[in-house]
Amino acid sequence: ALASLAGAASLALTLSACGQNSEGSSEGGGGTIGIALPTQGSERWVTEGKSVVKDLQTKGYEAKLVYGEDDPKNQVSQIQDLIKQGVDALIIAAIDNKSLNGVLQQAADAQIPVISYDRLILGTKNVDYYVSFDNEQVGRLQARYIIDKLGLEDGKGPFNIELFAGSPDDNNTKYFFDGAMALLQPYLDSKQLVVQSGQTKLTQVTTLRWDGPTAQKRMNDILAETYGSKEVDAVLSPYDGISLGVLSALKADGYGSGSKPLPIITGQDAELPSVKSIIAGEQSQTIYKDVRELAEVAADMAEDILNDRTPRLNNRRAYNNGVKSVPAYLLQPTSVDKTNYDLVLVAGGYYTAAELK
Ligand code: BGC
Repeated sequence: ALASLAGAASLALTLSACGQNSEGSSEGGGGTIGIALPTQGSERWVTEGKSVVKDLQTKGYEAKLVYGEDDPKNQVSQIQDLIKQGVDALIIAAIDNKSLNGVLQQAADAQIPVISYDRLILGTKNVDYYVSFDNEQVGRLQARYIIDKLGLEDGKGPFNIELFAGSPDDNNTKYFFDGAMALLQPYLDSKQLVVQSGQTKLTQVTTLRWDGPTAQKRMNDILAETYGSKEVDAVLSPYDGISLGVLSALKADGYGSGSKPLPIITGQDAELPSVKSIIAGEQSQTIYKDVRELAEVAADMAEDILNDRTPRLNNRRAYNNGVKSVPAYLLQPTSVDKTNYDLVLVAGGYYTAAELK
């Protein structure tokens, strides 16, 4: 049961469920859950959009899925539409984490519970639960990879590194960056790692909307302005789309051929083009987050909330969004490179071997 296009810029998939849980339980059926995700421009959000809808359908819910295509205003009006359509709960991954206060007040007035999905929504009391990954751990795993591959613990160096971070309006950005920098900072202090561009503060290294071409341009500028005869040995990249942008800039500058090897480049999301790049020996690593699990936890949470049960939570610390402490469920990320992609991604059923050819 697939239908409906809402507006030129946004695709709305309305999927009706058949009412019965295939596992046998039919509780909770009859409700409708609105899901607002950031963009179809990145594979991970497409994968989990499908997963959340499927999981909710299995539980007997109708699911309305919308993508804001990285335009915060568009996302606000999509959520307004979902509220008008009378959804019973909202699952939202914000594009701009501070842009939703007004629309979430409307949700609260209509007594619609809100699950903050993957990205914590800030500055409003009208968010009930948060489900995500341990995002500082994502940053730590990226940093650890760089430390291990460069042999920093064995005292090797100095090496040149450049730092990239995610979108400044995404609350996850600082978790990723802070998690990574906590491990890298001692090596910057000891000068085993040197940032030749001098751009080390989060505000200097963000990438609006996680855009690959924006990162490519920044890397181009850095290479042109500061590298000359020096070479980049590592790039901290928070997301696969950014990693591929950085790689394009490096390759255009002669890296990866002749005597100029590509640097160590991290990533995140295990998106197909990046996994292929890892297999081809270009991008070095990515962080795999099983978004099917994230989708499942969110669907379980929605079901619990609508049945007046307290959802399963596992956070050991409070996630303060500036106004309240939001109870959370956090999943664990996994570091993937060419030594374990087969085991983690193929044996784990995330990709088939054929997809990675
Ligand atoms: C997500 C990452 C993703 C990024 C860009 C973040 O909020 O946690 O998994 O790489 O957004 O879509």
